[in-house]
Amino acid sequence: MYCPYCRNPDSRVVDSRLGDDGSAIRRRRQCPQCGRRFSTVETTSLSVIKRSGAGEPFSRSKIINGVRKACQGRPVTEDDLALLAQEVEENIRASGVAEIDAHEVGLAILEPLRKLDQIAYLRFASVYRGFESLEDFEDAIDTLRRQAEDGARVPGGAQRPLTAR
Ligand SMILES: [Zn+2]
Repeated sequence: MYCPYCRNPDSRVVDSRLGDDGSAIRRRRQCPQCGRRFSTVETTSLSVIKRSGAGEPFSRSKIINGVRKACQGRPVTEDDLALLAQEVEENIRASGVAEIDAHEVGLAILEPLRKLDQIAYLRFASVYRGFESLEDFEDAIDTLRRQAEDGARVPGGAQRPLTAR
């Protein structure tokens, strides 16, 4: 790590702290030659392996671009997309892998997108999972319905929701 002021190739770490989301370490360094201080941010590398076998660094903006099209016309803001991409990255990093298939990244997007917007989810899933028939959509919608019912169920089981007749 060269000193950005005098290009001295050596520096001394004077402080280290973990970033807010735990995925980066910020180090305060001092150059022993000119005495000036600067910061570096260290992140673990996370590579996405494409179908061709080539790897590229994980990119939140690629996640956002991939999902944005499915969200056209839906009440989804740029902030929502940024948070979704952050959640996807945190989930992948939490799994402790250094490399992940592009296909697995798509899978990691599905769940947060389902919570964000069900129509966008169906659009994304139809492209991503290659839906070929109405039955594929019906299956996906059935799954969404079941998940919605599970989510509405009152913990404890015996009670019925107040809206039930
Ligand atoms: Zn220096």
